Amino acid sequence: MNSGQIMTAQLENGGTIDFVLDANAPRGGMKHTFFTPDKKYAVQFFNNPQDGQNPNIQDRIRTIVGIYNPTLSEQDGGALGNTEKTAEYFRSRFCWPVAIVQSPEFGIVCPTYPQRFFFGDNASTHGLNLKGKDKKSNWFTGRMRKYISSGELGDFRTMLSAAICLSRSIRRMHQAGLAHSDLSCNNVLIDPQTGSTVVIDIDSLVVPGKYPPEVCGTRGYIAPEVLTTMELDPRDPRRCLPCVSTDLHALPVLIYEYLFLRHPLAGPKIYSPDSAEEDDFLAMGPKATFIEDPNDTSNRPQDLKITIQSLSKGLEKLFLRAFVDGLHNPSERPTAMEWERELLKAWDRLRRCENPHCEKKWFILRDEREPVCPYCKTRVTDKIITLTLKSAMRGKQGVYRDCGEVVVYDQMPLYDWHVYSNVHNDEKAGNDMRAYICKHNGMWLLVNHGIEGMTSPTGRLVPKGQAVELKDGAVFRMTDRENGLLCEVSAI
Ligand SMILES: [Zn+2]
Repeated sequence: MNSGQIMTAQLENGGTIDFVLDANAPRGGMKHTFFTPDKKYAVQFFNNPQDGQNPNIQDRIRTIVGIYNPTLSEQDGGALGNTEKTAEYFRSRFCWPVAIVQSPEFGIVCPTYPQRFFFGDNASTHGLNLKGKDKKSNWFTGRMRKYISSGELGDFRTMLSAAICLSRSIRRMHQAGLAHSDLSCNNVLIDPQTGSTVVIDIDSLVVPGKYPPEVCGTRGYIAPEVLTTMELDPRDPRRCLPCVSTDLHALPVLIYEYLFLRHPLAGPKIYSPDSAEEDDFLAMGPKATFIEDPNDTSNRPQDLKITIQSLSKGLEKLFLRAFVDGLHNPSERPTAMEWERELLKAWDRLRRCENPHCEKKWFILRDEREPVCPYCKTRVTDKIITLTLKSAMRGKQGVYRDCGEVVVYDQMPLYDWHVYSNVHNDEKAGNDMRAYICKHNGMWLLVNHGIEGMTSPTGRLVPKGQAVELKDGAVFRMTDRENGLLCEVSAI
């Protein structure tokens, strides 16, 4: 192979794309990767050319690039119901193949990941050369963390944001009936500075009605039932293969790692004193035990200070369902949509720690009556202002139901989903700020930044640029327009 030589690939869609031959092309388990001269796209071929000729693999990949593609609008041949707006949203969150190479051999073309998912200069303070390496999450959640520059590490809030980003991407995939099959720290890149994630290695997706890919997963993320039955013949009905419910094990493992910087099953328990291999198999497979299992403390580290009880009550419950009820019982595992919802609720309870030296900087306010940062134990001294958002019940005048709670902080932005009951914080919502919270001369204000029809507690109109004071017991309308939310203030 002549490194540096430019080759032209013929695409199935009739086009062509140039790529640069490289004798040291990066090689994964299944494929190797070349890049286009401008490095905007990766052109990937199978390590074993027979895989590329396998009609089942080709067929599966064609549907991934086409009708199951959430990064392409339905109009352009992508997923059903996908608009250009939602397609664009997911383009930055998946590294989804965009075309199929016909010759010189079967392969795929993927966009390269955005620059923020590669380490730049000065990423390590300990002389580790990380430049150009991709940001796999275990750099940030594992033992290597101490070698990474503090500027790269983000804080609790950005890690929570990454967890939301990932659960949303997985929810979108599962909604289409797709399973990733190999979700792991290697296949989800994370940028803790911006709190964003990108899901890669999409070509190993499990597609409904197609032959499953021949991947079994990555150590630490394989669902216990898959690991336990891995030695059985794939046609044996007892064999568990990667599917949506196995993704629903890997997803909370990643979320737990992002939020706690440790693995939920890696504790002190010794499962097999004689064989490290057997010990590992039991610990992640048939005998796996959550390190925070409330009933079985055999795998609990002695010095466990920060636990799932430091999160919101809703997230605590989900982790118990994922790693206690559902660890060996896949149907009990929370769905990606449940994770997304609970993480968003927790996001609305974030509070900045008053200790300027707090390592985590932000925490989830679990209980207004016990407002203490779980990381540095600093107690909140400032007022705690909670907005309860309510929507009118259709057809029942004066009857409202709660549809969200927000614990505010100074300079907090508010969006359409804080104003209208029919907008949710998801890929369909716009991200224009509609109002913001501001602490001014000891007064807490909600400033109208672009809402028509906001009314004050006394019923007068609050024009853009003006504010409502957030006093305990105040009730006002975010807007008097259709689907407008009512806001109840509590200040303690
Ligand atoms: Zn703190």
